[in-house]
Amino acid sequence: MKVSQLFTKTTKNVPADEVSKNARLLIQAGYIHKEMAGVYDYLPLGLTVLNNIIQVIREEMNAIGGQELSLSSLQPKDLWEKTGRWDDELVDIWFKTRMHSGEGAHQGPELGLAWSHEEALTALMRNHIRSYKDLPVYAYQFQTKFRNELRSKSGIMRCREFIMKDMYSFSRSQEDHDVFYEQAKQAYIKIFERVGLGDITYVTFASGGLFSKFSHEFQTITDVGEDTVYVHEGKKIAINKEVYTDEVLADLGVTKDELVEKRAVEVGNIFSLGSRFSDSLDLKFTDADGTEKTVIMGCYGIGPGRVMGTIVEHFADDKGIVWPENIAPYKVYLVRLGESEAVLAEADGLYEDLTKAGALVLYDDRSDARAGEKFADADLLGIPYRVVVSEKTLVNKQFEVKKRTEQEVHMCDRDAVIKMVV
Ligand code: ATP
Ligand code: MG
Repeated sequence: MKVSQLFTKTTKNVPADEVSKNARLLIQAGYIHKEMAGVYDYLPLGLTVLNNIIQVIREEMNAIGGQELSLSSLQPKDLWEKTGRWDDELVDIWFKTRMHSGEGAHQGPELGLAWSHEEALTALMRNHIRSYKDLPVYAYQFQTKFRNELRSKSGIMRCREFIMKDMYSFSRSQEDHDVFYEQAKQAYIKIFERVGLGDITYVTFASGGLFSKFSHEFQTITDVGEDTVYVHEGKKIAINKEVYTDEVLADLGVTKDELVEKRAVEVGNIFSLGSRFSDSLDLKFTDADGTEKTVIMGCYGIGPGRVMGTIVEHFADDKGIVWPENIAPYKVYLVRLGESEAVLAEADGLYEDLTKAGALVLYDDRSDARAGEKFADADLLGIPYRVVVSEKTLVNKQFEVKKRTEQEVHMCDRDAVIKMVV
């Protein structure tokens, strides 16, 4: 992609009410646009990063047997009444509306914009799960959730409209469920490693529910996190403040003096649901011995946008964003300095060669931008490698290469550049 063709531009104009670092940087770099508090649009570069994160998650969900689908956002009231979750007292984050009727646009039956999908998917599975032979089922989606969050000051980390990866498991027995739950936990660990957050993300013990003592959150250490956790570095686990009791410490075999209090953000969450939803919505199956049993469920969430925001918060420096290589929108920011025929030919040639070799290149071919602007944009955008072509580099038939995370520049010939970035 050529910078001259990219419709987004870097900007210094950030909405005055935007207080979060992640959103401010992403807006400046042209990755996102703010519609209103907690509501953001993803522009081409931002969407590419989001999709890279989504792809990592998708691969790991498929690896544990996940089947991808996509459920509707519009949800009927009666379904949610069956589980008690239509109630505004119990769930205060609903966005609700009404269908059209002959009388007027919003005079018909009530509808909700889904903030989760246990109800919809459990009801749907009644069409597909009858016998033990139909189990297990692991279904997941990347789907827009609507949540009327009270506060939304963390940029793309807490939105009122956002994409969630939500997986739901349907198992024949508690034992089968427990095995899958552990596989899902391991898949999550891999996901956070692959997107660059492995070192600072902890499997965290959090409150369970009727069917399990604990749920597990994946908490990433960051000062802007809204949660407080107690980290055990040796065991690479943490305990959420909400379950930080003597009893829990004893259960986990850890003592207070081994734990360090930290701020963290919940980037993922896995939960054993038991028969909470299958009972209310009558999802049963016939087991091998002919008896009718309730399907055992679990749910497994990740917010790809929250992950992206967390990555920006964690890696950014005073010059801008720093993307881990695995999720960067482009691998190389190719800077052309000068307009002589020789420089043009050399830069165009390298762009072609890198692209042919399979590297994703953002080529700063602008003839109306100064060198300082190009370097500042390369840093702000956070692309892992910056390669410069100029009169100076032409002399030895070399290119100047710098990693976003390093200060030193290296002079490399064409093959070495390709080898470095592909
Ligand atoms: P939180 O405790 O932060 O409010 P939650 O416990 O309500 O989140 P879940 O319902 O378990 O979150 O959602 C699964 C995942 O979706 C979370 O782990 C998080 O990564 C993401 N997520 C939840 N709420 C938001 C939001 N408002 N904006 C962006 N991502 C979110
Ligand atoms: Mg939570």
